This record gives sequence, C-alpha cells and structure tokens, in this order.
Amino acid sequence: MRVAPGCPTARDAWPPPRGVSLARMAGGPADAMTKTFLFDLDMTLVDTSALATLRKTQQWHLVAANMHLVRAFRALPGGVAPHEMPAALSMAGHRVGIVTSSPRPYAEEITRLFRIPYDVLVCYEDTADHKPDPAPLLEALSRLGVAAGADVHYVGDDVGDVEASYHAGIVSVGVGWSPTSPFEFSSAAPDIFVGRPSTLLRTDRLGSLPYVGESLAAGRPYYGHWGSILRCDDGPGVYALGRYFTTSDPRHAGSRLSEAVLRLKEDDGPAEALGRALGKAVDRLDWTPDIVVPVPPKPSQARNRFAALLGVAAQHMPDEVEVERDGLRCTREVEGYKALGPLERREAVKGAFESEFTWGRAKILLVDDVYTTGGTTAACAEALLGDGASEVRIMALAKDQRTFARKVCPACGRTMRVRISGVGVKFWGCSGYPDACRNTEDL
Ligand SMILES: [Zn+2]
Repeated sequence: MRVAPGCPTARDAWPPPRGVSLARMAGGPADAMTKTFLFDLDMTLVDTSALATLRKTQQWHLVAANMHLVRAFRALPGGVAPHEMPAALSMAGHRVGIVTSSPRPYAEEITRLFRIPYDVLVCYEDTADHKPDPAPLLEALSRLGVAAGADVHYVGDDVGDVEASYHAGIVSVGVGWSPTSPFEFSSAAPDIFVGRPSTLLRTDRLGSLPYVGESLAAGRPYYGHWGSILRCDDGPGVYALGRYFTTSDPRHAGSRLSEAVLRLKEDDGPAEALGRALGKAVDRLDWTPDIVVPVPPKPSQARNRFAALLGVAAQHMPDEVEVERDGLRCTREVEGYKALGPLERREAVKGAFESEFTWGRAKILLVDDVYTTGGTTAACAEALLGDGASEVRIMALAKDQRTFARKVCPACGRTMRVRISGVGVKFWGCSGYPDACRNTEDL
C-alpha cells in the first residue's frame, strides 16, 4: 500500500464512509502487486442462514424486517472474521468487490451493518444473467477496469460461484467456513479452498495454495493448509490430493495432476511428485492411519501402479504409519466398468477383492487413483473390514470433477441455459433470448 505524505491511512479513517474504497482513501493506485478480490456475500462474508428461506422465496420485505438475524462468522483466535477480509485486503492495497445475486438494497444494508468496504458492488439488478453465468463477475471487472486473469479471485461458498469464475476466466476460491461447502465442493471444487480467512490474506502465498497434488504435480512450491486436501462428499472418510478432469473437459489440458494420474498407469514418472503429495497429505490429516493399502491391480495387469509412489510417500508420512502395498488382491476382471452407472458399478465389483491379511483392528487408509463413484473403494473397504480392520478411510490421488462445459446454441453459437417455462417445465433456452435468438430445445 502506498500512502501519500499527509494522507490519512485507511486505519485512521476507519470506519470508511459507505462504498468508499479504502485502497483509494489510502492513496494507493493499483501497482504491479495489486490483486483483485471479488466476494460472494451470503454465507461467504456473513452468515445469512437465518434468512435463507425468506431469501429463496424472495420475501424481501420480511428479509428487510429481519436483518438483525444476519450474523458474522466468528473469527478464529488471532485471526480475522470473514466479513473483515475485504477491509484487510483493501488496506493492503488490493481491489475488492462484492458480487451477489441478492438485490441492491439488501446488499448495501449488509455492507453498512458490517462495515464492509468495496470498490465495486454488483447486485441482482445489475445484469440480465446471474451466477453460475459469468456476467456478474465480468460486470464487476468492467467497472473496475480490470482484465480477467490469474490475479483476479472470486471468493464464494458454492458450486455456482466456482462455475461462474471458471467461465469468467478468473481464479475460484472456495470457503470452508460455510456449513455446506466442504462436501458440496467435492464434485466441482474451486481452484483454491481455504479453511480460514487468514490463509487468503497471505496474498504472497496464493500461488502455493492449490491442493497438494496439484501443486507438486506442477512442480510448484507447496504450502500446507486446511484446503491442501480435498474433502469429498461421501462422508468424512474420503479425501483427494486434488481434482481430476477427464480428457473431454477443457480443463484437462492445463491440469498437470490429471496428466500425472493418467501417466502413472503406464510408468513411474509421476511417482516422486505424487508420492510426496500423498505423504504430505497423510501427515496433514487430523487422523493417522496404522497402515496404508492401495487398491490392487486387476488380474490382467502385471504392474502395481502404486508401488513406487508408496515408497516415496513412506518417507514423508509419520514414522508410525506402515505401508502394505500387497494388502489386497483383485480376484476377477470387471468388464465395461467405466460405462456403468454408480449402482451398477457397486454391483459389478462386489466381492472382486480379497484381503491378504487379517488386520487386527488396524485403521487403514485405502489409496486409489481417481475417485469417481466410490464403487471400487467400497468393495475394497468391505474386504478390509471383513478381515479385521477397525476403520477404513480413502485417499484418492484425484477426485473426478463435474464438467462446466456448456451447450452451444446451434442457431447462433451463443451459450444455452436451462430455463424454466411458465408452467414449470425445464428446457434449454438460448442466452440470446429474446432479442437476438429465440431458439429452444428440450432438455
Ligand atoms: Zn441462439
């Protein structure tokens, strides 16, 4: 932050007049280190869960009468609370904005009540399209005069925020303090996932905050924090080292972790990076396994893709953790597995795995490569529990992600969106509607 002589600093001027940028008050025009942070409002900066039903049903007069029910998320000892992030970032010289799907009077009232400063506020009224469409984010960037890119972050609590960021071409940051977000995010995870605001405020470390597997597969430095491990939706016992994008997803091309996981099927090239990531992740878990066991190769596969990787991982895990690379055996081939649905998958692999040992009440961490529906790992866990393991948790090298690819209008090339007709029927409608294009298609 650059402060001109004689100018009041942002701190002197606290609290700021409504809507006035602290960065500008402090005399700090953007320099090369300036980043842009856009924030979702509800359940990201403040806890509006008490108003959720009223907001969803758009009873804004009742919302306005009950603003006293909006709560701040608590700060952790020594840290800042989520609603204090914009001020902290602004004081450090960064641009801050709020992009919300809520109406303006409501959003302005919250920023006033909680003294949240911003350089730009984009609300429901400001764009025709709403999140997960990128339009509101692009509107904020346009008003700020900032180009989309790696120095722009959007901080939010749900998958729509992640999708909007992706289409806007900016970095998505998911927050772990919103009650539903950790598990919701597993199928469409943000680029960075933070458990507390103070992690995000260390802006010099932003490049080291991605999931441990993604950082190390890309040869980047790794900084361990709560969001270094991706927590998956199937309960507290499923984790991943990062995200997996299938080859049909446009994000596959830039994903070194996806590339590494595929290559590991053929050779041990990625074993060093992925083994290190696995070891670091096990070291970070708030649960320590007694034994690490991989999903075994199929009978037709001579190569155990996890053997070299587990050797590397063992050097980075706590000393008391043992590795048993041949703890399970696959007894039969499963044909056409990838084409099956989740329930069929579970049925197809049932009983296909046998445990080679009795486990004497041991806690086992089962390692798989890509976690998709959990069919394989469920069958492996059953075999381990059947032979005496007391608990089985799962660590995947990567979690399969939902694609954000969109349907393109065959009539005009614009994006098509799911719309709902007056009688409640969902259909694909062109985003050019009504002026430029009126094309619709059945879902
Ligand atoms: Zn069209």
